[in-house]
Amino acid sequence: MSGPGLWHATAPPRERPAPSLARDVDADVVIVGGGFSGLWTAYHLLAGDPTLRVAVLEREVIGFGASGRNGGWLMAAAPADLRVWERRFGLASVQRAQRVLIEAVREVAALDAALGLGSDVRLGGAITMARSAAEQARLVDRRAAMTRWGWPAEDLTWLDPTEVQARLGAQATRGALQALPCGTLHPVRLVHGLAAAVQRMGGMLFEHTPASAISSGRVECGDLGTVRAPHVVLATEAFTIEQPGQGRRYLPLASTMIATEPLTGPAAEELSWRDGQAVGDARHLFFYAQHTPDGRIAIGGRGAPYRLGSGLSVAGDADPATTARLEQTLREVWPQTEGVAIEHRWSGSLAVPRDWCASCGVDRATGIGWLGGYAGHGVAATFVLARSLAAQLRGVPDPAGPQPWTLHRARGWEPEPLRWLASQAIVRVLGSADEVEQAGGTARRAHLVHRFTGS
Ligand SMILES: Cc1cc2nc3c(=O)[nH]c(=O)nc-3n(C[C@H](O)[C@H](O)[C@H](O)COP(=O)(O)OP(=O)(O)OC[C@H]3O[C@@H](n4cnc5c(N)ncnc54)[C@H](O)[C@@H]3O)c2cc1C
Repeated sequence: MSGPGLWHATAPPRERPAPSLARDVDADVVIVGGGFSGLWTAYHLLAGDPTLRVAVLEREVIGFGASGRNGGWLMAAAPADLRVWERRFGLASVQRAQRVLIEAVREVAALDAALGLGSDVRLGGAITMARSAAEQARLVDRRAAMTRWGWPAEDLTWLDPTEVQARLGAQATRGALQALPCGTLHPVRLVHGLAAAVQRMGGMLFEHTPASAISSGRVECGDLGTVRAPHVVLATEAFTIEQPGQGRRYLPLASTMIATEPLTGPAAEELSWRDGQAVGDARHLFFYAQHTPDGRIAIGGRGAPYRLGSGLSVAGDADPATTARLEQTLREVWPQTEGVAIEHRWSGSLAVPRDWCASCGVDRATGIGWLGGYAGHGVAATFVLARSLAAQLRGVPDPAGPQPWTLHRARGWEPEPLRWLASQAIVRVLGSADEVEQAGGTARRAHLVHRFTGS
């Protein structure tokens, strides 16, 4: 079984799918999870020391989780609530972290070319539209905050409505904020390319290999075998909450996507933004979209709270109400897509830490390391956190220096049903705030959930 959605359906077959574990293996580092986090960690470990024995265990197939289901935005936005980082570590620390994340976008694009990852990276910038007065005001504030937190002012540009229409074919906006560098890619091509690169570097990959018991020095995989290693890494993002004792580590928030058939005729001519622009809006329940190289619009958004007791969006089935809202947004922003069929609908789970700040680290007593909690901002950030974690595992300095993501660990979420109620409140309050703002009003209740949302 491959993963759900457009990206798995349109990725070329892999040359070297990995086998299942079939015996006991000794390694220096065993990584649980074959997404961007696990594979970038393997990559950085092997790039730093090619003699290391690194094993990656994936329960399903490479890219089965969020790494194979996302919007493909390669963005420098921090996987964190920057107000939290600033309070804890100071403004200069946030500015350093932002520079590292901006550089990461260029590094991933450069590695894509150098390693032949084949992920269709196009750095066309991120363009966030305002579709109401409230969104426009938020973007003005956002631009000021981004500049303060270290984004070079010359890389942030305001586009007026005619420019937005000319460049994106988008109707009825009040303008947009463009941020460089940022771009889009094909997530499954990236995760497949990365897996092939790790295999070429000597990494041992095992698919269809669920880790059933994870402890200091060993990962047991039922009847398949055991991997023994002084270092164990948990790179399981939202799935982490299935591990014993980790249930409150993250809030699993679903994010959903739809993708059209390839555009043809007048729609294809009018929607000619094909340079890799990552396009979204500034609603509370914002959308994120890209125009794929094969001519589709892929658009996603949050809005489906997880089901109490059932947890994760494992199968990838998309919530009908959210897909209907996304389709409505698509037709509103780009009326030219009227009549264009929606071919793919899917979803995945985001891992949201209690403080909305991703982190990585190694417990020196057990040798168990972790990275994750990107809250929907992981395509570039996984590269950076994996590099920090690999440095910690190898006992060498992090090339990025001390960074907020290595310096803290969030406390757990409230027990159920409080966590579930929080997720319901987030989606409901933000959804109704958008409705009020779209009608020209002021949403007074949105601030009630900001304590939970990191916005
Ligand atoms: C719909 C959606 C849209 C998104 N859009 C964007 C975007 O446009 N830009 C952006 O920056 N970020 C985006 N994100 C977030 C980004 O995709 C993630 O932050 C990133 O992919 C996390 O990678 P990961 O490797 O940590 O986790 P995952 O990709 O989830 O990998 C974890 C892996 O662990 C495996 N696993 C779990 N348990 C076990 C076990 N017991 N044994 C073995 N293996 C196990 C899973 O099968 C899975 O493959 C989006 C996420 C979603 C869901």
